[in-house]
Amino acid sequence: MRTYKSNRPSAEKTKQRMPKRGVQAAVISAAIIVIAVVLTLSLVFGLRKAPVENDVPTVTPPVEEKPNPITFSAPLTSCTVIKTAALDKLVYNDTLKQWRTHNGVDFEAAAGSDVFTIAAGTVTSVENTILDGMVVTVEHAEGYSSTYKGLEKAAVAKGDKIESGAKIGTVGNMMSEQNSGAHLHLEMKKDGKFVVVTDYINVENDK
Ligand SMILES: [Zn+2]
Repeated sequence: MRTYKSNRPSAEKTKQRMPKRGVQAAVISAAIIVIAVVLTLSLVFGLRKAPVENDVPTVTPPVEEKPNPITFSAPLTSCTVIKTAALDKLVYNDTLKQWRTHNGVDFEAAAGSDVFTIAAGTVTSVENTILDGMVVTVEHAEGYSSTYKGLEKAAVAKGDKIESGAKIGTVGNMMSEQNSGAHLHLEMKKDGKFVVVTDYINVENDK
C-alpha cells in the first residue's frame, strides 16, 4: 500500500513537470533570441562605428603635407603703383600709340633706384633689349617667376641663386613705356601664366 500511494503522487508530479519543461524551453529559446539580437545589434553598431573612426586619420595627414606658402616682398624701398596690370583687356599705350595688354605692374621709381627680387630664386635670364631696357627674370619656388623690366643695369647674372630681397639691378629707361616716366615694370607668372604682383605683395596703390 505504501509503495502504491507513494508512487501516485510521484506520477502526478511527472505529469505536472511536463508543462514546466515547456516553459523552461521557451525561456531558453527567448534567451537565445535575446542573445542573438544583442550580438546582431553589436555587430551592426560595431560596423557603423568603424568607418567613422577611419575618417579621423584620413582628414589630418593632408593638412600636415601642405608646404609652407611662399611669401613675396616689395621690389623697391618705396612702392607706389602708377599703372596696374591689365591681363585680360587692352589698354592704350600712349608711347607705342596702340592698344595692348599690360602684363605687369608699374611702380614709381627714380632712375638709379635699387630693385630687389621679390623672393629667393634662380636668375634664368638677363637681357638687354631695345624696347624694355635691361630685363631680368627670376624663377622662384612653387612655379612662380618674376620679370623686372626697364632696368638700367643688372646686378646679377644668368644662373645666379639669390636670396629673398637681394638687389638685382637699378631702375633705368623703358622705351616701350617712355611716357610713364622713370619706373619699374614688374611682371609675375604662376605656372607660366601671368598673375598680378600686387595680389602677392603689400604696396600703396595710387591709381
Ligand atoms: Zn608697364
